[in-house]
Amino acid sequence: MLTQAIKGVKDVLPEDSVKWRHLEGVVRKLFSDYGFSEIRTPIIEHTILFARSIGATSDIVEKEMYAFKDQGGDEITLRPEGTAGVVRAYVEHKLFASRSVTKVYYMGPMFRRERPQAGRLRQFHQIGVEALGVSEPGIDVDILAALVELFSRLKVQGVELHINSLGCRDCRAAYKIALKNFLTGKIDSLCPDCQRRVETNPLRALDCKSEHCEAATADAPMMLEYLDSDCRAHFESVKQGLDDLGIRYVINPRMVRGLDYYTRTTFEMIAVDKKGAQNAVAAGGRYDSLVEEIGGPPTPGIGFAIGVERLLLMLPEAGDSAPLPKVYIAAIGGEAARFGQKLADALRKCGISAERDYSPGGLRNQMKKADRSGAAYTVIIGEDEMTKGAAILRDMKTREQSEVKLDEMVEEIKKRVAAFSTDANNEHGTRFL
Ligand code: ATP
Ligand code: MG
Repeated sequence: MLTQAIKGVKDVLPEDSVKWRHLEGVVRKLFSDYGFSEIRTPIIEHTILFARSIGATSDIVEKEMYAFKDQGGDEITLRPEGTAGVVRAYVEHKLFASRSVTKVYYMGPMFRRERPQAGRLRQFHQIGVEALGVSEPGIDVDILAALVELFSRLKVQGVELHINSLGCRDCRAAYKIALKNFLTGKIDSLCPDCQRRVETNPLRALDCKSEHCEAATADAPMMLEYLDSDCRAHFESVKQGLDDLGIRYVINPRMVRGLDYYTRTTFEMIAVDKKGAQNAVAAGGRYDSLVEEIGGPPTPGIGFAIGVERLLLMLPEAGDSAPLPKVYIAAIGGEAARFGQKLADALRKCGISAERDYSPGGLRNQMKKADRSGAAYTVIIGEDEMTKGAAILRDMKTREQSEVKLDEMVEEIKKRVAAFSTDANNEHGTRFL
């Protein structure tokens, strides 16, 4: 217990965090290009916020939430997704009063008590965006374009954008009745969960992974056939906008999404070579009634969330990540070690990463460590050199060595590192990052 993390939660170790930072860097630049600013909301919210927004009959609220009563008796939940908190903050801080459009993005951990498996964790991370205040289909197209561009900048291949429309409250009500009638006729072929859903949430039967339910619903009526004229026109404009931008998509009339708040445009980014339950890397849609439902003024909204762990599994292998210019300091003897400490400090203050041995052994041993560290240069300081007021600077790639005066060492290294960065920019210095 003491030395084992909780089931379904994971450490990101130093060798993996470089990938996370790379992803986060690309994401921040991209969202800024598309006009989104960052929002950071708390990890805990009142339980009622999620029950009300995600929907009492959704899988998340029915069985996946980490909900508890705190010491003061308040009902608290670890956020299972990001939209509810953003919308709560939007209403609480009246962001609608100061601007007509609010475009925000977030990244952070989410919590769902699911059965852990590859790509399905109990603490996982999402990166998401929300745009509030725009009902025009142009924002749907912008959001989808940002999502597609993100995959392109990350060079992730093998994904397909699936889109659908879930209509509005009015036309969906008519559709629900038609679907319910259809499902009632097939009730014996449905799984026990879906038999129950016919009454509580019939749309979810289309999303069921059981083979029986898939077969039974093969010719079920589809929401797209029931869209009213406004919802249909909206969907047509979104498709037109995507066509204009040359964005490819698949219309997937069976995609219903598991959260109750969605209306009109819904979408998923699907990994095509992966069958089954974990193939959605990102998902989102419109939620035109949500702001009002939690007590704000009627405000349309749209957003998506990307599953970071699933996305990271798809990032192309980085190949050898060339070391950034780094200096290893090999010091032999007490005086030299003191100089080594000062040199490391001076280099770091110039933004040059420097490392040394804290309990220095002999020269051979320290040179081995220098090699392993991936340093581009090693400074070798022995007692002889100290008395001469100089040290050896070794280029680890060419193995060329030169004697440099101690008081000129920082300047000399700065010069070399600057030259290194210039060729490295084209070649390998920032290849991974
Ligand atoms: P799924 O159908 O895979 O359960 P979902 O419909 O519950 O996904 P959303 O709530 O829409 O997913 O969340 C958006 C994205 O977050 C998903 O596409 C997925 O990449 C990621 N995600 C959701 N749940 C988990 C989880 N338990 N572990 C890791 N990633 C997750
Ligand atoms: Mg789920």
